[in-house]
Amino acid sequence: MRKKIVAGNWKMNKTASDAESLVRALREELANFREADVVLCPPFTDLATVSRLIQGTHLDLGAQNMHYEKSGAFTGEISADMLRDLYCHYVILGHSERRQYFHEDDALVNRKVKAALASSLRPIVCVGETLEERDAGRVEEVVSTQVKGSLAGLSGKELLDTIVAYEPVWAIGTGRTATSDQAEDVHALIRKTLAEMASEAVAQGVRIQYGGSVKPGNAKELFSMPDIDGGLIGGASLDAHSFAEIVRAAAR
Ligand code: PEP
Repeated sequence: MRKKIVAGNWKMNKTASDAESLVRALREELANFREADVVLCPPFTDLATVSRLIQGTHLDLGAQNMHYEKSGAFTGEISADMLRDLYCHYVILGHSERRQYFHEDDALVNRKVKAALASSLRPIVCVGETLEERDAGRVEEVVSTQVKGSLAGLSGKELLDTIVAYEPVWAIGTGRTATSDQAEDVHALIRKTLAEMASEAVAQGVRIQYGGSVKPGNAKELFSMPDIDGGLIGGASLDAHSFAEIVRAAAR
């Protein structure tokens, strides 16, 4: 049985003092919650603050990006080991905003995924089609190509340590959510692709999150689908009560 996982992607929001208020509120909201893994992914500048505040709680820490090299002359970049040093256990890779604005492609995402795993970070690897691609009937081709390219060369064990986030680009930050059936269809396709890449057993073990305008009002239905193992939450993760409601929707 896959344990659900809900992650909050704060994107480029919250100063350290904003982060402190949000985490204090979340600690109260989720004090007794154990039914799903909960990961907070603040910007780099808040990682140390959030790391300190979640010590001794069931909340976990993730970053939103990293570089694939271990160290060196890469001005402005952050390595996997630097994240581990702050007790980060997850890292979002290949988010559509990074693919769109920073030209990250599957080959680059794949290098980052391998570097994350080599430093014992669990990558949350984002895939998803644009509206144009959906309208052109290319969802299967686009998403399976992203999955195969981003996760190329991973062992079964490494795939099991990886989380895939299906995030249709047209649903991110738009208020337009995929229906639970639309999302389930693509999650099942991702699981089929993973089975082709590794084995049915591995495919059944990999957790696949849905992301794209998840809100307290639609989370329960999305999370009740057989292949949806939680969510990657953007806008609604910036408010403690909304995020906590979404997390609670992941309880069995
Ligand atoms: C995201 O950016 O990962 C995301 C899902 O954003 P939102 O929930 O705001 O659509």
